[in-house]
Amino acid sequence: MTRPKIVILGAGYGGLITSKSLEKLLKSGEADVTLINKHDYHYLTTQLIKTGAGTAADRQIALSIPELINSSKTHFLKAAVSTVDIKKQEVHLEDGNTVPYDYLLIALGFEVDTFGVPGVKENAFEIRSFRSSKAIYHHIIKQFNLYKEDHDPSRLTFVVAGGGFTGIEMLGELADGLPKLCKQHDIPFEKIRIVAVEAAPSVIPFFPKQSILYTTLVLEKRNIELITGRKMLECTPEKIRLENNIDIPTRTLIWSCGVKGNTIVQNWGLPIEKGKIPVDACLRVKNMKNVFSIGDCSLFMKDEKNALPPTAQVALQQAPVCAKNIVATLRGETLKPFEYHHKGSVASLGLMAAVGKVGNFRLSGLFGAFMKQVIEARYLFNLGGPALIIKQHFGVSREPV
Ligand code: FAD
Repeated sequence: MTRPKIVILGAGYGGLITSKSLEKLLKSGEADVTLINKHDYHYLTTQLIKTGAGTAADRQIALSIPELINSSKTHFLKAAVSTVDIKKQEVHLEDGNTVPYDYLLIALGFEVDTFGVPGVKENAFEIRSFRSSKAIYHHIIKQFNLYKEDHDPSRLTFVVAGGGFTGIEMLGELADGLPKLCKQHDIPFEKIRIVAVEAAPSVIPFFPKQSILYTTLVLEKRNIELITGRKMLECTPEKIRLENNIDIPTRTLIWSCGVKGNTIVQNWGLPIEKGKIPVDACLRVKNMKNVFSIGDCSLFMKDEKNALPPTAQVALQQAPVCAKNIVATLRGETLKPFEYHHKGSVASLGLMAAVGKVGNFRLSGLFGAFMKQVIEARYLFNLGGPALIIKQHFGVSREPV
């Protein structure tokens, strides 16, 4: 008798932790597990801002997947998924190969939402993947080199659109990273402009007033120009245009205004709601028994009106429950409903400051920054124990491909 085939699409937070959980839950020979991901590394999405600003080594952000999994229990396939044939139970890959499945998990993450703002898709940079973030870093260096030739100040103007959590984290990293990069490339730092553009009246508008004031103060102290209450209308390779015909000459727009589910899943014959795959309480795609979905590409309703947000915290809590439910389905046992417990959120403002809330405690300053490091270290510890934390900090750097 052939073994049941479990196929996991995406080795982000959701997919990778599900495969690690399955390694523990499945008995020897009970099922074949295949994990498929575009690249052979797992990137720490929550830290991609550091790759963009050059404040972390590549090895700290992009971790080799074969080194994170138990290859005797999980078969890793480096490949890009193109479609899934739900009727035939087959995954089709861009390289032309086909992978059959009995149980499927779709954990393909997010895409950046440009909200149709003209020129953003063509000209702006995204903090989406390791590669897209590394492109920001390479572009900064390129602008430095070109500035030495033409002395065009727009080359030294770096704009972040979106003052939510990701936007303020990017601003903090730029404020940390640019002085060092300027020194290395012989660029006068006093000529650098870091500009934040936010349509709402303040940055992190969804946060309590004290957190907003603190964040504004920290960013302004770091010489970041905050332009709030103004929508960005257009982006060209040489400038951005805001409401009231305000132009900011710049060659670098980092777009951080929101995300949507990975659009690749839209034409697979799956139910789609609000651009995502709706799942039931047990994380199964609605009306399907053998297809599961978690993380940013899925839509989990926490009550009748509200869906869970697209966060690593949600994906990481869903993953072990999803693994248990895949195994329960395979064994004909009862599935467990997923319950989300919000633990809080912390956004860094560079290495030495952060803002957020954990439980009932409002965090800021150095202590907030310390807590942010603890949260990131905890994830690494769960993924690969103390050895991974040591390796990530002291290992040899390698440029992922
Ligand atoms: P992802 O982590 O995006 O993983 C998807 C995987 O699928 C990737 O490995 C990708 O390469 C792969 N993939 C995609 N398409 C294909 C394909 N066609 N074929 C094969 N593989 C494919 N959340 C928090 O909770 N706390 C934070 O502090 C926080 N900070 C953030 C900071 C930044 C800068 C960003 C961008 C996000 C942050 N988030 C945070 C959100 C969090 O990172 C996401 O919610 C999380 O990554 C979602 O996990 P996922 O497993 O659904 O998808």
